[in-house]
Amino acid sequence: MVYDIIVLGSGPAGLAAAIAARGRNKSVLVIGNRWQDSPLAKAERVDNYPGLPGRTGPELLEELYEHAAALGTEFVVGKALSLLAWNGFSVTVGSQIYQGESLILAPGVIRTAKFPGEAEYLGRGVSYCATCDGMLYRTKPVAVVGLAPDAPQEANYLKRLGCQVVYVSPNPPQTLDPGIPYVKASKLAVKGEQTVTGLEADGTLLPCAGVFILRRAVAPTDLLPNLATEADTIKVDRNMATNLPGVFAAGDCTGAPLQVAKAVGEGHVAALSACAYLDSK
Ligand SMILES: Cc1cc2nc3c(=O)[nH]c(=O)nc-3n(C[C@H](O)[C@H](O)[C@H](O)COP(=O)(O)OP(=O)(O)OC[C@H]3O[C@@H](n4cnc5c(N)ncnc54)[C@H](O)[C@@H]3O)c2cc1C
Repeated sequence: MVYDIIVLGSGPAGLAAAIAARGRNKSVLVIGNRWQDSPLAKAERVDNYPGLPGRTGPELLEELYEHAAALGTEFVVGKALSLLAWNGFSVTVGSQIYQGESLILAPGVIRTAKFPGEAEYLGRGVSYCATCDGMLYRTKPVAVVGLAPDAPQEANYLKRLGCQVVYVSPNPPQTLDPGIPYVKASKLAVKGEQTVTGLEADGTLLPCAGVFILRRAVAPTDLLPNLATEADTIKVDRNMATNLPGVFAAGDCTGAPLQVAKAVGEGHVAALSACAYLDSK
């Protein structure tokens, strides 16, 4: 199925976008974590959301989620790992690919701090997606940088494919295949020539052909390299349109104030703009 709109991020901005788009009868898929795992779920009390003072973060999120779900929004729990912008948008989550005619980015605050060499070798040995790129490294040595809860499973998957895996992270992983060597390190740098040749981990070089950097979230700028940003925020106009046709953004990812009311308002506008874009096609 090709969705009218794929929303990336299931926080207040993404859920508000879904509600507005379903109100215009567009098919909507939201890709993100469970609402219970959203940042706002940690808020004990939210006093500045208009009309609903004193709600807890989980209460607000659950109501937003239930509203979006009741209107027929579809949800996929997972992390968008790669995105292809061609003839619409194809988003990879795990081993599944989802297609949409337009895209609303609502991933929250974008953190773009990267390891030295990471950006330089992205696509030339550095990958954020074991499922997408694992086969390319079959029989070869690869390093998995585990910075997300699901990273050990991804490392195990690469081993099953036949990669020679070493797992690198600041904290010992749970559920890692005991056959995978673990290196405790936090100061990392990707090394290479034309392509990746190794990962430097706390001063020790681990020779490898591929480095899988698995963080909790993949920044939209890594998914869409031509996305225009300004001071680590996605650049948008008043319609929440980005520089890329069919791509809109809302919420904390577009900058301050980092607040629910602003995220919800922007999600609403982004959805109406995406609907107008679809109707004009
Ligand atoms: C403890 C705490 C208390 C707060 N209290 C208040 C308050 O009282 N009042 C107030 O107005 N604001 C408060 N905030 C701020 C508020 O939570 C944010 O402004 C709001 O949640 C922003 O919504 P968002 O949808 O833009 O982003 P988020 O809520 O951050 O949601 C984005 C979601 O997208 C997910 N995501 C990112 N990348 C990907 C990817 N590649 N694939 C899939 N999913 C992805 C993220 O994991 C995240 O769950 C608080 C925040 C915290 C952490």
